[in-house]
Amino acid sequence: MRVGDSTPTRRKEQTMANCNICRGACCESITLEITGPTNDFQRFLEYRTSPQITGKGRIGRNFECRCLMLKDGRCLVYEKRPKMCADFEPGGEVCRATVATRRTPEEAKKIFGED
Ligand code: SF4
Ligand code: SF4
Repeated sequence: MRVGDSTPTRRKEQTMANCNICRGACCESITLEITGPTNDFQRFLEYRTSPQITGKGRIGRNFECRCLMLKDGRCLVYEKRPKMCADFEPGGEVCRATVATRRTPEEAKKIFGED
């Protein structure tokens, strides 16, 4: 996420995403890809998680676990956030899927500057 920036963010030809309006939808859960043959542990996880796009059309399992560093819609450790947070692409496929899941359609339009 890019909450902590004062301006909307854009990478290359991607859609603009205003993280300050979104307030950290991508920090409210974590999605992990579970690979390998189906086993009892995977079935255990499937009962407790929902499927979500992880990028490039792949599906992972989404765990509800709001980051403890997300405070009032902003990252408390923004300058020293984990690399996987810094690498997250605002306006990218996973960002859009996350916003679609966790924000209203009206909020999504504002976040992506489509209203
Ligand atoms: S889900 Fe997207 S728009 Fe929302 S805070 Fe994360 S990167 Fe920004
Ligand atoms: S460390 Fe910051 S950017 Fe990363 S998930 Fe937590 S609040 Fe979001």
